[in-house]
Amino acid sequence: MGYWRKHPRKDLEEVLVIFHEAGWLIEDSGRYYRVKCPCGEHQRSIHLTPSNPDYGRQALNWLRRQPCSHT
Ligand SMILES: [Zn+2]
Repeated sequence: MGYWRKHPRKDLEEVLVIFHEAGWLIEDSGRYYRVKCPCGEHQRSIHLTPSNPDYGRQALNWLRRQPCSHT
């Protein structure tokens, strides 16, 4: 499917898949990914090599807090 499925870290690739399945648009800007919500008002970046081991889980918690999230 998308080019973004080639995230170098498997756990963060799964994070991108979850964003995708929630209807978010994923853009590859080169140094990081940018996820944009269905309504167009919410977005954040997903870094390629975050030093925080909890980064993926925190990104998903953030996703669930967005009012337009389907998850
Ligand atoms: Zn939104």
